[in-house]
Amino acid sequence: MTYSVVVPAFNEEEVITETYKRLTHVMRSMGESYEIVFVNDGSRDRTAQMIGAFCENDPAVRLINFSRNFGHMPAISAGMAYARGEAIFIIDADLQDPPEIFSQMAEKWREGYHVVYGQREKRKGESLFKKASAKFFYRFLRSMTSVDLPLDTGEFRLIDRKVCDAVNKLPEKNRYIRGLVSWVGFKQVAVMYERQERFAGTTKYPLRKMMSFAMDAITAFSYKPLKLATSLGFLMAVVSLVYLLIVFYQVIFTDTTIDGWASTMGVLLFTQGIVMMILGLMGEYIGRLYEEIKNRPSYIVQEVVGGEISSVSESFASEESS
Ligand code: UDP
Ligand code: MG
Repeated sequence: MTYSVVVPAFNEEEVITETYKRLTHVMRSMGESYEIVFVNDGSRDRTAQMIGAFCENDPAVRLINFSRNFGHMPAISAGMAYARGEAIFIIDADLQDPPEIFSQMAEKWREGYHVVYGQREKRKGESLFKKASAKFFYRFLRSMTSVDLPLDTGEFRLIDRKVCDAVNKLPEKNRYIRGLVSWVGFKQVAVMYERQERFAGTTKYPLRKMMSFAMDAITAFSYKPLKLATSLGFLMAVVSLVYLLIVFYQVIFTDTTIDGWASTMGVLLFTQGIVMMILGLMGEYIGRLYEEIKNRPSYIVQEVVGGEISSVSESFASEESS
């Protein structure tokens, strides 16, 4: 099989039919063997039934059903584990990223690139807050890490079999996929595109999920925040030393009275605040260490539907082929 398309879907009943149609149209026009791997991430609407119906009529469609909602990144991880193609496309279910540029990506792949990622030139139909926070996030993350993470790039991309296998083999459970794909290296290139509005439905990334997503990404790829704590502590030590010297000077050489309740409280609260912040930050890392050590899988598959070939031997294919 030449191409796999991995599509994570969570409560996407409003778009999934259109997604299936457009993907099928694009894949057929490319004229090679392909499969579409939908990963239903514990949707509570009719998404699973709808994809199930596509499977019945179309052997190119495969459905991976999770036992509950595990999240966007685990869904893509599962899709990558089950994908059987030589080149794997990753695309969101909401058609914000145009599948029409798949052929352009495939061309780059044939030229010998192993990762062809979509880079957003513009984002349409998203709130100002979303655009600004995304822009800030990509730049901040980049400044925090030593891995070369391309800016304004989501999961929309083509990856070669080799890259897919390499990422599948990484044992970590906190999977910031685009980071892992950058981390494994190989020949990577960008294709520019314009991010569209959602075809229908609403975002499945409320602010809460966005924040924890950002925290996952930063902690997975950088321990600079911890180093920041060290420098901050050092800075505070220096500042307080200087302040102490000034106080000594005042006591010995001047007759300025020191009735310093406010200043003491001020400094105390400030330092306490910073210490708490640093403790919290450490907690973020320790919590994630704990998650990794528990070694639970990052998703559980309830069932695999469709895709022609009998599932048992195939579902472990990605592990065996390594
Ligand atoms: N998604 C998922 N599980 C989740 C949240 C989202 O599989 O818990 C999928 C969703 O169906 C979509 C993709 O991840 O295909 C991106 O989500 P969305 O478009 O809502 O995010 P946004 O584009 O607003 O950042
Ligand atoms: Mg979207």
